[in-house]
Amino acid sequence: MSIREVRAHRVSVPLHTAFVTAIRTVHAVESVLVEMVDADGRSGWGEGPGTWKVTGDSVPGIEAAVTGPLQDAVLGRSPEDLADVCAGIERVIVGNTAAKSAVDCSLHDLAAQRLGVPLPRLLGSSSLRVATDVTLAAGPAQDMALAATERTAEGFAVLKIKLGDGTADDVERLRLIRAAAGPTAVLRVDANQGWTPRQAVRAIRAMEDAGLDLELVEQPVPAGDLDGLAFVTAHVSTPVMADESVWSARDLLEIVRRRAADLVNVKLAKCGGIGPARQLLAVAHAAGTGVLLGSMMETHVGVGATASLATVARSAGVDDLDAAWWLAASPVEGGLRYDSARVVLPDAPGLGIAGLAS
Ligand SMILES: [Mg+2]
Repeated sequence: MSIREVRAHRVSVPLHTAFVTAIRTVHAVESVLVEMVDADGRSGWGEGPGTWKVTGDSVPGIEAAVTGPLQDAVLGRSPEDLADVCAGIERVIVGNTAAKSAVDCSLHDLAAQRLGVPLPRLLGSSSLRVATDVTLAAGPAQDMALAATERTAEGFAVLKIKLGDGTADDVERLRLIRAAAGPTAVLRVDANQGWTPRQAVRAIRAMEDAGLDLELVEQPVPAGDLDGLAFVTAHVSTPVMADESVWSARDLLEIVRRRAADLVNVKLAKCGGIGPARQLLAVAHAAGTGVLLGSMMETHVGVGATASLATVARSAGVDDLDAAWWLAASPVEGGLRYDSARVVLPDAPGLGIAGLAS
C-alpha cells in the first residue's frame, strides 16, 4: 500500500511563557508539520521545526525540501520498506536535517499505524511513558528561583537551567534556584555556546566550589570549538554534554576521539530522524558516551517521535522532552500529553494523531 501524497502544513504555535536562552528568545514555535498519506487514506505525521539560530533550518526552506526532493523520494514507495525508504531520504539532499526528520518520522508513524501498534512498540518498547526535565528560561535570579519553586511543586524533579547569557551572576542565580528547588532536585545547566573555554572552566569550577551539585553542564562553548570543548571537559569535575557540536554519527566519533565530552544530546532535527538517531545511539553506547534525548522548540508531533525513541534509548539520565509543555495549545488532535513530569504517549496506532486541531 504505497504513499500517495505528502502534505506540508505550516504552523505557528504561541508559547504560554517566553523561552530564553543565551542565543535567542522564543515566543512561538514555527514548524512544518508533514502529513504523509497512504493509499488507504491513513496519515503519518512528522515535524520539522524552524530554528534559524540553531540548525539554520527555516520554515520556507523545510517546506521546499519536503514538497520537492524529499516528496519525490517517497511517493509511490511503501512504508513497509521503512529502512530502505529512510536511506533514500538521507541520500536525496545534503543537510536539511529538520525536513528529513519530519519525513522520516511521518514514515515511522505510518509504518506503526499499518501494524496497528503505538510507535514505541514498533521501536521495541513495552512502555508508553517517559520522564522529562523542564527548562528554566534564562532571566533575573529571582524570576528563575520563582520558576524553580513552581516547577518543583508541579512534580518536576530535574530542572534544566539556561545560563550563559551574561546578564547576571550565574553562581548567585544557581544558589537561589538550589534553595528554591531543594537538595534532592537534579539541576543541569545549558550554556548554549555562551562561554569561551576559559570562561567556562572558571564558571563551572565556581559552581563546584559553591557546592551546587550539578548533574551536568551542556554545550559550554561554541559548537565548532571541539578543542575548547575538550579543554573544558578535561578541566572540570562536572560531566560535560555536547549538544550543538554533534549532529551526525561522524561528529560523535570526533567527540569520542578527542574525549571532548562525557555525554551527547541527540535530537531528531539535528541528525535527520529516528533512523539516524538510532545510529547515533549505537555509536554512543559502543563508545561509552552517555546519551540524553532532546528536541528543538517544537510541538507535540516532533516531541512525540522523540519520546517514542526515548522509551528504548537507555539514556544516561532523565531526557529533555519538555518543548511541547511550553505551548499554549497543541496544533494537532490526539498525540502526547504531559502528566506532571512524564510524557504519556497514546495507546493508539503510531503517534495517535487524528489530524490538525480545528
Ligand atoms: Mg542544548
